[in-house]
Amino acid sequence: MTIRVYSTLTRRKEDLVPVVAGKISMYVCGPTVYKPSHVGHMVGPVIFDTIKRFLVRSGYDVKFVINITDIDDKLIVESARRGTSVPALAAEVTADYMTCLDCLDVNSVDSFPRATDHIPEILAMISGLIDKGHAYASDGDVYFDVGSDPDYGKLCNRDPDQLEAGARIEISSRKRNPGDFALWKGAKPSEPFWPSPWGNGRPGWHIECSAMSMKLLGESIDIHGGGLDLQFPHHENELAQSESFTGKPFAKLWLHNGLMKTGDRKMSKSEGNEIVVGLLLKKHRAETLRCLLLSSHYRSPIEYSEDRLLEVQRGLDGFHRFFQRFERIVGESFYGLPTGQFELADSHFAAYGTRFVEHMADDFNTGAALGVLHDLLGALNRFVEVSRLDHPAPSAVAVSDFKRNTLVLRDLSNILGLFQRPISVDTVSQDDLAGPLVEFLIELRNDARKNKDFAMADRIRKKLADLNVTIEDRPGSSGWRRG
Ligand SMILES: [Zn+2]
Repeated sequence: MTIRVYSTLTRRKEDLVPVVAGKISMYVCGPTVYKPSHVGHMVGPVIFDTIKRFLVRSGYDVKFVINITDIDDKLIVESARRGTSVPALAAEVTADYMTCLDCLDVNSVDSFPRATDHIPEILAMISGLIDKGHAYASDGDVYFDVGSDPDYGKLCNRDPDQLEAGARIEISSRKRNPGDFALWKGAKPSEPFWPSPWGNGRPGWHIECSAMSMKLLGESIDIHGGGLDLQFPHHENELAQSESFTGKPFAKLWLHNGLMKTGDRKMSKSEGNEIVVGLLLKKHRAETLRCLLLSSHYRSPIEYSEDRLLEVQRGLDGFHRFFQRFERIVGESFYGLPTGQFELADSHFAAYGTRFVEHMADDFNTGAALGVLHDLLGALNRFVEVSRLDHPAPSAVAVSDFKRNTLVLRDLSNILGLFQRPISVDTVSQDDLAGPLVEFLIELRNDARKNKDFAMADRIRKKLADLNVTIEDRPGSSGWRRG
């Protein structure tokens, strides 16, 4: 199946045709590590982790890099404010970022290069750009000369004058053109620095991504990703300096994910409305956040609110109750099922896999793919009822079919990085009170049945049914589910 991907560069969906057959290289711009990660920082990693999972499932050998910007004005200011060093601050905030990714099961990233580990590559690239007439040294700084690149502005499809008008351009008498950007910044007193042919200093932000992408993935890569807010100037500048340096296309496809919004505002530190991931995870499961981030198309903005999170969690609880049901019927954990085998299911169920793949192959439409998972869940629950698997002594053939058909759910949810680990049963309940109360009523009903008070047992069952709670009787135990 052809995978179609929307590229910002061409402003249309392109067929995914790798630079090297069978392989995909993917570079995604990572965080500047000066403050703990907020929810908006997780959007790109979760989306591109899911894209990698899908590409791997589609048979590609994928190399995925996210960089860490560990030297920058923001780090210098924040470390001075906190009375610590830039490396100590960077190490602390990077560790927080890694913990957040781990909680969200973003585990497909092959490499997290740090800018400060790549100073020689950055210096070599800057020297090369000067030699080719695309950059110039000026009073301890080095700037890229945007006037030297006739293609400048092609990513954002605007001419350089328009770009400058819409962006914060640093005014400096050291520049030839206002739009020229720093490749190297001379160190001010007390700032961290590295020696260079132009004096002590540090790299600009844009050049580090070009240098690290080329070092780890080669001169031309398949996918360059990042948030929509990085299109200009960061990605425009990365593209200009990389292609000026090599004379080759830097990235075939440019993917930009939508940003997180609360109300009608972007979530950001500068807006002061950011939700720190560590705090959110004290209240919500990481899986709920991951699912929220995948619930719309990746190019759309993501609406964040407490209500949205609770709505997503209620949707996920339906799956968790199904996993309990599966375990009661089959006697095995859903989480132990193999992945990568949806085609083994009966054709009716395998068709859900085909639909899911079609949505993902159409510009990674995770929102529609999630919809297929919910439809599949309904179909599996119906299968249990029609095959009477909840009744005593179900047919062994039907149980075996049920297990095989559940492979579809296991496979597809794994592509989205959902249901990676069991969660404890008592956190599955709708809220802290409802679960134990239902369990207690079921206990009373079981006592009533033992005492042959069938009228009472029936009354409890009917009342729960009115409340949309279904009791599932199994030999030796009873479970329940909503709906
Ligand atoms: Zn970057």
